[in-house]
Amino acid sequence: MATQLLMAKDPAEAIGSKTASAAFIAGGTEVNRLGSDIAAKADTLISLKKCSGLADIRKEDGCLTIGSMCTFQQLIESDDVPAYLKEAAHFMASRTKRNMATIGGNIAAARSDSYLIPALHAAGAVLNICCKEGECASVAIADYLDEQDKYTDALIVSVSVPTDIVLVSKRYANTAQSHAVLTASAALRDGGLHMAGAVKNVGILHFCDLEKAFMDDPDISEDAIVKMVRECTGLHTSDDMFGSDDYKRYLIGVTVYDLHRQLRGKEV
Ligand SMILES: Cc1cc2nc3c(=O)[nH]c(=O)nc-3n(C[C@H](O)[C@H](O)[C@H](O)COP(=O)(O)OP(=O)(O)OC[C@H]3O[C@@H](n4cnc5c(N)ncnc54)[C@H](O)[C@@H]3O)c2cc1C
Repeated sequence: MATQLLMAKDPAEAIGSKTASAAFIAGGTEVNRLGSDIAAKADTLISLKKCSGLADIRKEDGCLTIGSMCTFQQLIESDDVPAYLKEAAHFMASRTKRNMATIGGNIAAARSDSYLIPALHAAGAVLNICCKEGECASVAIADYLDEQDKYTDALIVSVSVPTDIVLVSKRYANTAQSHAVLTASAALRDGGLHMAGAVKNVGILHFCDLEKAFMDDPDISEDAIVKMVRECTGLHTSDDMFGSDDYKRYLIGVTVYDLHRQLRGKEV
């Protein structure tokens, strides 16, 4: 159980204080969530609230760099944040929570019902991180998620996203406040199609086989896509309170098909 709270004044102090038994706390909506064991397992919480340089939003050519401490509400209210990321931020229905929860916390939490990760993944977002050894690096979000063990002590400083891409998303939940069984995003960027999803209790998935199927045959039928997902042995969905294995596979199939159709409608 955490007994110490350290208010880091800058990223160097935050990183310098990080140990295996300490945890960063940003908005605190996941750390302090009922049922979360993050605070219970830590002896020290390192608050990023007063940490300098983590809350700016900077525009560069075709790219936006968002400080990790930017809240969901700041994303929505910024004139510079692209519409696709505002839409994903709106998936968090509670404004109270949007005023607290941060983009960095959402990425580091890496939940299987993540609000933002599918859109950030499809967009090819790059994380600017600092590690314990003092090294700072830019890491594609896909690599960060694939190698999470490597980054347990890393501080996400900012997130860079492209602004000049076409990206569409879809989220399925019983109510706006419920956990989503599926959140999926698809983007056209760098001359290719990029698709990612968050499947509740399964994880964050990069739909690379489906991307290839659409690229090989842009007119592929919905039935063929659903069949592909139904027969995919690499997908480990199962029956649970969010639906049956078969339902989840069907939902992924029809959703990616629909997202692809929407993207083609927006192509210029
Ligand atoms: C009722 C309820 C329902 C929720 N439902 C969802 C949901 O459906 N989908 C979803 O995605 N989330 C959900 N959440 C969790 C949470 O609200 C979001 O994930 C939020 O974006 C986390 O951001 P935060 O700033 O509050 O993170 P925090 O709670 O402060 O931190 C979350 C994790 O990220 C780490 N961290 C924070 N900032 C950084 C950083 N800059 N660098 C490295 N590590 C960092 C912390 O150590 C911690 O492990 C829910 C929470 C509640 C209370």
